[in-house]
Amino acid sequence: MSRTCGGPENAHRRDVLRRLALGLAAVPLASLPQRAPAAAAATLLSEDDPLAKAQGYVADAHRAKGAQGGALCSNCSIYGGVPGTDSGPCMIFPGKLVKAAGWCKAWSSL
Ligand code: SF4
Repeated sequence: MSRTCGGPENAHRRDVLRRLALGLAAVPLASLPQRAPAAAAATLLSEDDPLAKAQGYVADAHRAKGAQGGALCSNCSIYGGVPGTDSGPCMIFPGKLVKAAGWCKAWSSL
């Protein structure tokens, strides 16, 4: 004797499986950590950092040798800071914040 797909027992089983699937699908979303702002986890880049030195980074663009007029981290295409804040992330220096008024040789307007 073969089982049918439409019996009440199977309907109950399908309902349980569906609820389980929905519950399992929700777990990964619920377990994701709250995304902290990059500024909260990162520390300010030091001009003494070896990579900062290699890139000629300065926290104040006015002290930069080679900076074109008006070039700042805050108007660099690589800068990831929020406008109006004094520092933000930069892909050149992962895990660090650069000063909005800073500059380095990787400055780009593109
Ligand atoms: Fe500043 Fe741009 Fe250099 Fe990053 S790449 S440190 S944002 S000038």
